[in-house]
Amino acid sequence: MSGLILSNVTKQFGTFTAVNDVSLSVPDGTFVCLLGPSGCGKTTLMRMIAGLDLPTRGSIRLGGEDITQVATHKRNLGMVFQSLALFPHLTVGENIAYALRIRGVPKEEQTKRVDELLAMIHLGGFADRSVTKLSGGQRQRVAIARALAISPKLFLLDEPLSALDAKLREAMQVELRQLQQQLGITTIVVTHDQREAMTMADTVVVMNGGEIRQAAAPVDIYRRPADSFVADFIGSTNLLPYTVDGSGRATVFGTPVEGLALAGAMAGTISVRPEDVQITAPGNGTIDGSVTFIRDLGGTVETFVEASGQQIVAVSAPRTRPEVTVGQQVGIRLDPATSVVLAR
Ligand code: ATP
Repeated sequence: MSGLILSNVTKQFGTFTAVNDVSLSVPDGTFVCLLGPSGCGKTTLMRMIAGLDLPTRGSIRLGGEDITQVATHKRNLGMVFQSLALFPHLTVGENIAYALRIRGVPKEEQTKRVDELLAMIHLGGFADRSVTKLSGGQRQRVAIARALAISPKLFLLDEPLSALDAKLREAMQVELRQLQQQLGITTIVVTHDQREAMTMADTVVVMNGGEIRQAAAPVDIYRRPADSFVADFIGSTNLLPYTVDGSGRATVFGTPVEGLALAGAMAGTISVRPEDVQITAPGNGTIDGSVTFIRDLGGTVETFVEASGQQIVAVSAPRTRPEVTVGQQVGIRLDPATSVVLAR
């Protein structure tokens, strides 16, 4: 099978396990984001894919070939890491052509490839500029073009946009995704920003404590989180306890909720996204509570309700905002169709 295949990859530093038994299959031409909090092992996993670190156990295959022990420069990779490390004494064109020159590609071919790449990153005509005269976003694009010059089999980026301000960063996320789709290049990006991952990826791989907690399409990660870590890490959610009573019915705060897809456990947690919480009249929902705070963000309105000692947040569009005020008693209705029973 082609693509990138990680099998039971583990990395230990002394007795500390930074990456624990990770298996993942990345089909050719797809875009994967490794996402997780600081220290979860994303960079360590990326470094093993790049050949900068050797796994303690497990194997890595690329295009059908076992590359676990293959040196970085023989893996045919394009890499962009956080510190861009463009060569400051070279022009934009010379930076992009660097790897081609080292490989002995004829001069005319280098120039043709540089022009192609510059057009692709919307910097046509910039070949003779000094890289020190570029903006942050332009430098970022040159780093991407430089990594792509050799037409790599695999494109690896570690926090490539983290040095950019928020607006530029969002624009570059869209650009990077469009470029990847245009080229059809298998791409892996490390990020700790869930919006960034959701914007760009075909598959989001959520990691914590050196392990993969869930690997799925962005919408599935959001709609069907596997566990409470993923549910809480991706977007915001309400994590509510449920129990199963003697007759096998699930109850939330003592009220039966028909139609929850239970996994067999007698008690656990459900995740309900704020946009799926409905505010209704007292006695009319699953549970009653009192409104403690209303946050009007212009585009959305968040209503905070305290019920059974727990805070529950409901989000709505301004036009459909519940007509409630702080201190008012309300009912909260949970929809079983959008309430996800979590594995742990
Ligand atoms: P961040 O987002 O902060 O970069 P990360 O998810 O990329 O975090 P890693 O850099 O992969 O995390 O680190 C995972 C864990 O492994 C951390 O606890 C880190 O301290 C540890 N670690 C990483 N490299 C080494 C090393 N060379 N020696 C010892 N421990 C290391």
